[in-house]
Amino acid sequence: MYYDMPLYRPPSEAYSLIFQVTLGCSHNRCAFCIAYRTKKFCIRSWEDLKSDILEAALSYRRIDKIFLADGDALVIDTDYMLQILSFLYEKFPHLERVSAYAGPANLLEKSPEDLQRIRKAGLQMLYFGIETGDDELLLKVKKGATAQELIVSARKAIDAGFVFSAIVILGLGGKKASVTHAIETARVCSAINPQYLSALTLMIEDDNQYFFRCMGKEWEWMDKLEMLKELRLMIENFNLDNCVFRTNHASNYLPIKATLNHDKDRLLKEIDNALKNPEHLRPEFLRAL
Ligand code: SF4
Repeated sequence: MYYDMPLYRPPSEAYSLIFQVTLGCSHNRCAFCIAYRTKKFCIRSWEDLKSDILEAALSYRRIDKIFLADGDALVIDTDYMLQILSFLYEKFPHLERVSAYAGPANLLEKSPEDLQRIRKAGLQMLYFGIETGDDELLLKVKKGATAQELIVSARKAIDAGFVFSAIVILGLGGKKASVTHAIETARVCSAINPQYLSALTLMIEDDNQYFFRCMGKEWEWMDKLEMLKELRLMIENFNLDNCVFRTNHASNYLPIKATLNHDKDRLLKEIDNALKNPEHLRPEFLRAL
């Protein structure tokens, strides 16, 4: 099987078989992300993909989960995606779920009918980076979408029946924009109301000077207690219905899991407790991407 490295997948796809239906990310401009900087974006040909699927089907008979990589597989046009999904379900008879990353532009470009066709063909779950709900910050980090576009695109996917897992980034606004970032991100997440929501803590690689150029001279790193206070403010402002919220990514200082808004009070108490006992937070050397 062909894998063009580097290869990324969400933590919850650790046991999924991965096929790269695209290489790279069609956007590839977010200031905080160097995942696909070394790749020239392309959609893989049917010949190449088919040969990978056939080869994998011979080796792995009981596959129940497949993840479509790379950065925004939903960019593929509807008919090609339907062809891929149909072949996957034919070749892996035990397949229960196919998932992929999606960006706001991918979702805005597709009609509600096309999204429903893709969903019914078996692409069930989408992972989507909200990152922040602060418009000024979205512009700075070159997300390529406004807060309103994030809401509209995400709602479009949820209304089409996808299970939706969204991601936000703690610390993205730095010290100065922390409060706005927390409040606006909570507002956007609440309007989307995804089934799953995760928070990562910002980590910038040494070779990503582009991030600091985009953010400007005034941008300052937040320390771990400031990150926790930002998380607390975000949670306080969430208005979510039955959303599984996690900070279990290795970048975070405090791993928590809850259903919001149901467990909001418990979560706020956990964070207050951590703020009083910072020695229990994950040490820097154990944080990783
Ligand atoms: S859309 Fe996602 S994969 Fe692409 S550059 Fe932005 S964060 Fe990275």
